[in-house]
Amino acid sequence: MDMTEKLAKERRARLAAERLLEQKSRELFAANQKLALHARLLSDEIVMQRSVVREAQSQAEALKGQNARFVTALEQAHTQAVMAERRLWDSIDTIRDGFAVFDSGLQMVAANRAYLGAFQGLKVGPGISYAGVLQLAAEHRLVRLEAESAEAWVARMLARLEGEVIAPVVVQMASGNYLRLVDRRARDGDVVSLAIDITEQMRIWAAIEAIPDGFVLFDREDRLLTFNQRYRDIHPESADILRPGVTFDEILRHGLARGKYAEAVGREAEWMAERMAQHRAPSSIHEQKLANGRWLRVLEQGTPDGGRVGLRVDITDWKEQQAALEAARAQAEAANRAKSAFLANMSHEIRTPMNGVVGMAELLCDTALSEEQRLFAETIRSSGEALLVIINDILDYSKIEAERLVLHPEPFDLERVIHEVAMLLQPRARAKGIDLIIDYDMFLPTRFIGDPGRIRQVLTNLMGNAVKFTEQGHVLVRVVGPEGSAGMQSLHVTVEDTGIGISAANLEHIFGEFNQVEDQQNRKFEGTGLGLAITRRLIEKMDGTVWVDSTLGKGACFGFRLTLPVSEAAPAARLPITLRRALVVDDQFINRTILERQLTPHGIAVTLCRSGAEALATLAQEEGFDVVVTDHEMPEMDGVMLARQIRAAGHQMPVVMLSSNPFVAQAAGGDAGLAAILQKPILRSELYRHLQELSVPLPAAAPPAGQRQMRVLAAEDNRTNQLVFAKMVKDLDIDLRFANNGREAVELYQDWRPDLIFMDISMPEMDGRAAARAIRGLEAGQGHVPIVALTAHAMEGDAAAILAAGLDLYLTKPLRRSVLLEVMTTHWPKETRPLAPAG
Ligand code: ADP
Repeated sequence: MDMTEKLAKERRARLAAERLLEQKSRELFAANQKLALHARLLSDEIVMQRSVVREAQSQAEALKGQNARFVTALEQAHTQAVMAERRLWDSIDTIRDGFAVFDSGLQMVAANRAYLGAFQGLKVGPGISYAGVLQLAAEHRLVRLEAESAEAWVARMLARLEGEVIAPVVVQMASGNYLRLVDRRARDGDVVSLAIDITEQMRIWAAIEAIPDGFVLFDREDRLLTFNQRYRDIHPESADILRPGVTFDEILRHGLARGKYAEAVGREAEWMAERMAQHRAPSSIHEQKLANGRWLRVLEQGTPDGGRVGLRVDITDWKEQQAALEAARAQAEAANRAKSAFLANMSHEIRTPMNGVVGMAELLCDTALSEEQRLFAETIRSSGEALLVIINDILDYSKIEAERLVLHPEPFDLERVIHEVAMLLQPRARAKGIDLIIDYDMFLPTRFIGDPGRIRQVLTNLMGNAVKFTEQGHVLVRVVGPEGSAGMQSLHVTVEDTGIGISAANLEHIFGEFNQVEDQQNRKFEGTGLGLAITRRLIEKMDGTVWVDSTLGKGACFGFRLTLPVSEAAPAARLPITLRRALVVDDQFINRTILERQLTPHGIAVTLCRSGAEALATLAQEEGFDVVVTDHEMPEMDGVMLARQIRAAGHQMPVVMLSSNPFVAQAAGGDAGLAAILQKPILRSELYRHLQELSVPLPAAAPPAGQRQMRVLAAEDNRTNQLVFAKMVKDLDIDLRFANNGREAVELYQDWRPDLIFMDISMPEMDGRAAARAIRGLEAGQGHVPIVALTAHAMEGDAAAILAAGLDLYLTKPLRRSVLLEVMTTHWPKETRPLAPAG
């Protein structure tokens, strides 16, 4: 052996060893690894085991915690539930209404304090039966049973509970309070019982029941909600339909079908529509007549919630009273008319003998009397006249009061009416020395449509008062027309005087009934105090106004304003006035101005003088005056004297004299060469007429003074009045004949042709109106005889009817001599002998 082999051998051994080692080590390693794996598995197992245990442990812990929380929550929930229930009961306890719960066996489960409170001192509480509660209430008289026995009541109250739906019932407690018991079945069979205090409602309801009228309430759908017994009583026919829920429409139709509404019969549909309209109006009141003869006042009104509340008041008694009153009123009115007619007749009857009294007294005054006798006669006359004024006023006033005063509009001449009134007042004014002046606006129409009789009455009152309350100065009637349009004219009429005046305090007062100024100064004037009240009423009836201005001691100015339709002026065939220059003589400024204003528009140049002396001086200086117009009554030199002086001075122009007493003037100045004596105040148209006559050159020789007497016919049935009339004119140079009635008057007119006729209105056979109409018919076209009516006080319509019958003027009885003379002078025909007897 070599070394190499050895070495190789060795090497092979080593390698083998190494291989073995390597294998062994590999085996070891594998074993080791296995072991390690085992070990790891084991440890894993252990770990796992451990974690499972831990898990279990923590789960147990958690469960334990959960458990504990659950228990707490449960505890809390329980407490809350308990609290909620307590709260609920606490609240239920606070309500005023009783509340109780019974189980399905009707044993009380719980009840609130109000419920239990009603049974104080009694054993009422959970466990007691419903029946037991009722029994206790009945036995201890906690409820008012009226006539019902306790058993019956309990039985009735229990029977209620049997029904499907338990109807509410109202019981009255011993205290008087009312409870409404409302029982409800709950799902589980429990019964909930409520006792609601409805005392307030019951009170209101009792009140509604107590009112004597029917009460009814409908909801917004117009369904009947409620009504009281009275409503049912009023509508017995509807009793079977009246129940809550029925509509108003149904109730009406039901009634209509039974002919219940008297006014609906025959016009049902229309009536229904009207009735529904009333029902729907926000508020309505109407009267309804039922077929049973009763009357209802139906009041309806919307309620805030859209419903309607109604009252039905039985006004049958009231209606009957009303009818009775109406009948009484008609009766009273008839009586009033009778009274009025009686007053009118009486006034006529009184007036006729008064005519004798006043007339004879006046005549007596004209005879030779001792001072004492004259005083007596004057007193009789003035007392008689005063009495007549009173009768007139009372008559008129009673007529206005009875509302029987009717206006009779017709065409009339306002200026003429004013003049006529002035003429009648003239004697009184003259006696006092007062100037009565009329200033009628030149440019104003004179014809209007109105009631001349009533306007005359107003003027008579205002102008009469003015004359009565004035001792010196003037009374001026002024008419102006501030505006006019389309046939209408507004008129201001003022009556101004310079008399005693009225204090401011009395100004309103005097227009009242029977009101007079009460003072020392006023007491001497007679009168009823009705005049101005009548005036005011008359003017107001004509849609006008009356007023007064006055200063105590200075005078008064009464005025009225009217708007009247202008009447077509009668076309006046006007002759031209050819006079160019006039001398006007008057001591009164107002008169001078008025005359100037009246003459100037006719192209006459006017020169004004204050006195006769001034006029004579003017005439001496200036030439060319065509006419002198002079006043009669002037101080120092009167008109007659002036006329004589004018003639004495050799002037030739005509002299026209205006006099408030033409008769006297004629007597005094018949020989003074006057061209005309005219009644003052002069009617414009009269003045023009005379001036026209003067315009025509006078025939060289004046016609011989009339050869015959003026023929005057007086128609008067009453012997005394005939006598009075005859005596009044006995001094005159006239031919007087009497007719005893209208027929005779017409005959005399035909056979005898009188120049002037005085005509009494009420006469037997044929009255004055008819006679005048007949005369107007006869004279047709050939001359116009003036007819003057003599009337008792102008009754309603008289003035109008009188003038319509063709009479020219009317005088109210009793006749006054002065007025008669004036009328005759005015209508004196030139061809007859002067009225005043010669010598
Ligand atoms: P009567 O004249 O009948 O007393 P009236 O009603 O006409 O009644 O007048 C009432 C009152 O008014 C008169 O009494 C008088 O006091 C006063 N009165 C009327 N008009 C005038 C007047 N023009 N001047 C002064 N007072 C007058």
